[in-house]
Amino acid sequence: MEQNDQFTHDLQQKDHENVWHHMSMYNDNAPPIIEQGEGAWITDSLGNRFLDGMSGLWAVNVGYGRERLAKVAYEQLKKLCYAPLTQSHEPAIRLAEKMNSLLEDDYMMFYSNSSSDANEVAFKLIRQYHQQNGEGTRYKIIARYRGYHGSSLGALAATGQALRKYKYEPLTPGFLHVAPPDHYRRPKGQPVEAYSLACAREIEEKIIWEQKETIAAVIMEPLITGGGVLIPHPTYVKEVERICRRHGVLLIIDEVICGFGRTGMLFGHQHFDIRPDVITMGKGLTSAYLPLSITAVRKDIYEKFKEMDGYSHFRHINTFGGNPAACAVALENIKIIEEEGLVQRARDLGIQLLHDLQDLLELPFVGDIRGLGLLIGIELVEDKPSQAPAKPERIAKIIADCQANGLIVGRNGETVEGYHHIIILSPPLCCTDEDLDFMVAVLKRVLAANV
Ligand code: PMP
Repeated sequence: MEQNDQFTHDLQQKDHENVWHHMSMYNDNAPPIIEQGEGAWITDSLGNRFLDGMSGLWAVNVGYGRERLAKVAYEQLKKLCYAPLTQSHEPAIRLAEKMNSLLEDDYMMFYSNSSSDANEVAFKLIRQYHQQNGEGTRYKIIARYRGYHGSSLGALAATGQALRKYKYEPLTPGFLHVAPPDHYRRPKGQPVEAYSLACAREIEEKIIWEQKETIAAVIMEPLITGGGVLIPHPTYVKEVERICRRHGVLLIIDEVICGFGRTGMLFGHQHFDIRPDVITMGKGLTSAYLPLSITAVRKDIYEKFKEMDGYSHFRHINTFGGNPAACAVALENIKIIEEEGLVQRARDLGIQLLHDLQDLLELPFVGDIRGLGLLIGIELVEDKPSQAPAKPERIAKIIADCQANGLIVGRNGETVEGYHHIIILSPPLCCTDEDLDFMVAVLKRVLAANV
């Protein structure tokens, strides 16, 4: 065995014995051990290179190997490694100020570590807000099937993907779900706008049937990402906002994947001209260089907490949330996004990529290709007339073949049957034109070979 092979073999053995992998048990196909990254590419311990078409878990927006971010973290850790946010520190203040300059309304930033945390904060805070506003009966939160909002018990309750949930029930009570718009599977012949209004109307009906005085908020992603890249028509999103306002229900927008340029706007909701009450963010906020998330809460909601007596402050604390180095890295990360025009780049590359992939629709099992910015879904079906999701074995083979050809792609979907039959592309926003050509070439080759 060569030295490299031996090194990898030993690590894989130790991995097998000690590391409980996320989402799966260790299986016989030992996962690659990733050693380094540069731009959109990662390299494993055997020297194999992969174009990371998923940006890790949709997170490494500015790409790998940014020395600027490493330096900022190093300098900040030397100067001040930690101060809890019961006190304050400069990076947290500067980042919050910056965030407000990027958002349309005035918000207060509540820092946590993960995006599940950020959504939990949103739920707790909104329930308390309604209590303090004299509407303590408003506690229910409406979310959509196929949406994903995190893995903790509240965020998982908001998630609309049954397979992720049923083994951990009972989850936090008070979460309700409605179907999201799915244009590909809408009733045949129904115009998209009429369909969008009908989908929005489902939310209104839920509010009315449940008694509007019990509904605290609606949570949704600007577009459903992990549930299969379901891009709504602006009519839907505007109508949901209108319905929320009409019934005194707050609107939480989960920007965890869509934020920081992914969809070709700095934030996904900016495609739809809406004013969220609460915005949750993570992932691309630091491009995953360090853990950090934000719950941005509109100022008038925050003001309600100030008016109250000492027992009414928001009783939520989080040891690591808003770590100084993480905040400093987030600020520098946003600078990179701005300086390199990565939002525009995501928009341009997304248009190019969608265009270049269109030929795939000629294959008998490619049902739909859709995307916004650098977030693209390729929906695979058994056959086009039935639209039945492609069988798991076919998808698994395609994903493995892509990887064998140096391209990592994701797989998602969450239909009722639980198939993950949608191939996801969500590469770093710093992709080069050559990277784009490579992704298209591999996908075309692999899909054609799997007919
Ligand atoms: N919201 C969305 C839309 C997500 O995609 C995710 C993670 N994939 C989360 C929330 C939860 O993020 P985390 O894993 O950091 O808790």
